[in-house]
Amino acid sequence: MDTERIVVGVPRETFPGEARVALVPAVLPQLSKAGMDVVVETHAGEDAGFPDDSYVAHGARIGSREDVFGADIVVQVRTCGINPEKGRDDIHRFRPDQIIAGMADPLVCPVGIQQAADHKVIGFALDFMPRITRAQSMDVLSSQATTIGYKAVLLAADRLPKMFPMFTTAAGTVPPAQVFVIGAGVAGLQAIATARRLGAVVQGYDVRPAAQEDIESLGGRAVMLSLAPGDAEDQSGYAKELGEAFYKRQQELMAQVVAGVDVVITTALIPGKKAPMLITKEAVAGMQPGSVIVDCAAERGGNCELTRANKRVVTENHVTILGPTNLASTVAYEASQMYSKNVTAFLLLLVKDGQLLIDEEDEIIKGTLVTRNGDIVNNRVIDALKEVQDD
Ligand code: NAD
Repeated sequence: MDTERIVVGVPRETFPGEARVALVPAVLPQLSKAGMDVVVETHAGEDAGFPDDSYVAHGARIGSREDVFGADIVVQVRTCGINPEKGRDDIHRFRPDQIIAGMADPLVCPVGIQQAADHKVIGFALDFMPRITRAQSMDVLSSQATTIGYKAVLLAADRLPKMFPMFTTAAGTVPPAQVFVIGAGVAGLQAIATARRLGAVVQGYDVRPAAQEDIESLGGRAVMLSLAPGDAEDQSGYAKELGEAFYKRQQELMAQVVAGVDVVITTALIPGKKAPMLITKEAVAGMQPGSVIVDCAAERGGNCELTRANKRVVTENHVTILGPTNLASTVAYEASQMYSKNVTAFLLLLVKDGQLLIDEEDEIIKGTLVTRNGDIVNNRVIDALKEVQDD
């Protein structure tokens, strides 16, 4: 019966330059089968390569922004705090007990979560997805990081005044480019794989010792620094923040490695914290002219001291530093497809046979639920908000 069906709304993303969309047409039949009807804002998927008629062909209704926010569940790529300017325009559209799900970066933008709580929505931060096997299909950070690592290498290859592969020609032998990837999580490993496919010689480094095997399995050489990070990893596999003395020593050792390569791709992050600064301006001064750094941590302050978010910096010794902040959006077609699969898996957990069930005992629900009944319900977010308010 129509009355029993849950309505899912897909607004057009409004963050400047954001081309992704939260659901793509291909997943709609699966949602429909589970009792969900989808209403998509006009042109929501257009920038990602999914025109309105492709949604209609898969059973969606096209509507206004008001229609979409009238849904029982609203799914977004960037929700609440991580669309700080334009996102504010939607806050008055939030309704009590409506579900809003998307990436929210709650530890960095806790004020946005507070606003969602004030409007009594049931807010899910999909970037809080626990790293358990059952949640792998819903892991938005991993799916989006895959595109970041890939695209960072292409940017570097485009900017570098050298070719990546080795060539042996009658005019001489061209040696392969030397690429160094710092941070071997999802984005870093994809960067290693992509640079290898392009024929570069690749080195990788991560503060988590377990990453060495991953780097080598992709044909990279694991760089060993004579550093003892001790307990560098938390329970969920993320890196922990390490002391100042550790980072200082790491910067010194890093300077030696970057001096010998053509390209540095940095992806080192610590959840909820500023990115660790690993490449000092002195280290950049020691790099070869023409070298390129692509700093994928630019949005969090950057892994390189000279990075400027979304700017190209060229130093006196002719090193180019790029600090792109939304690389996933530059490959919006696949990034949206993967995100959409993640969101669909999550929706199928929430809705069964047209019935909405929020089981707060479920580890996935518990991990991602950030607001309910007018309150922030996640302790890490409450602490992050206190920190912001104390500043
Ligand atoms: P991330 O984006 O938070 O950080 C990127 C990388 O930077 C991490 O590998 C981290 O160790 C590294 N890093 C942090 N500080 C550093 C420093 N000072 N020097 C060098 N490297 C530094 O991490 P991520 O890509 O989300 O992945 C983190 C881990 O979680 C990885 O082991 C990944 O394989 C694992 N993971 C597990 C699952 C799952 O089990 N479902 C899913 C995705 C990722």
